[in-house]
Amino acid sequence: MERGLAWIEHRDQRVLAYPALHGHPAFSAPVQLVQGAYHRFVGAAHLVLRQRIFTTSAHRLVDAETVRLGASKITFDAPVPAPADAVVDVTPDARRAQALADDALPRGLIGRPAPTPDALRGWVDAHYGRPPAVPSPHQPRRVLALLVERGRVTWAAANDNGTCKIHHAEVLLVQSHWRAHRRPLPAGAEVWVSRRCCRMCAAVLFASAAVPAALVVRYLEDDPGRYAQNTVLQARGQERGLTVDATPGPAPRSRPGRW
Ligand SMILES: [Zn+2]
Repeated sequence: MERGLAWIEHRDQRVLAYPALHGHPAFSAPVQLVQGAYHRFVGAAHLVLRQRIFTTSAHRLVDAETVRLGASKITFDAPVPAPADAVVDVTPDARRAQALADDALPRGLIGRPAPTPDALRGWVDAHYGRPPAVPSPHQPRRVLALLVERGRVTWAAANDNGTCKIHHAEVLLVQSHWRAHRRPLPAGAEVWVSRRCCRMCAAVLFASAAVPAALVVRYLEDDPGRYAQNTVLQARGQERGLTVDATPGPAPRSRPGRW
């Protein structure tokens, strides 16, 4: 019954989570533990999540990168723990956090033709408001993630910039798409993001594709941050810049120097 349990021993209690029954990697026990803890312990989640996470399951890149970004450390293949007196199961909290994120999806983008780079910039401004003239450290992460199939946007998500550190647009895209359709990201679909994926999001997208090796991710802006380097998508050459050539519409203009 333990099925890849994940837990943290915090003060006198054990905070734990179970994976979703369907086994999708974006709903693993470590992911649900992080997501559930942020939802349940508002304002204090960092105190809980700075403790080591243990899981009975084997190493998975999604879990390792999620914990690196949203928590602290993880030990895989841990033995099933002895029963504890005080147990807090945050699996239902993770589900609530996912449902709230679903409610906030930018659904107005679904069904539109895939955007040009300029149009995508406009969508980001429309969703988040125009960026301040002077950059601030408290600026929201202005990321939209789109699932693009045959030239149309078929799903969309945005970074929620709330208390949960792992609620990046790509993670919410994958979780909400699965919750709505119960199928992986279809073969042949592309994921378009307004900012280059971090390591966690790259791992989640790769693991969630029907054919991971065929997934193509296009990004509008680079992310020079440390956590956006050496992602699984970069390592495998599955990222492309988003250019006008990638978008449907009029034929691309001839390149300079060609007549
Ligand atoms: Zn990310």
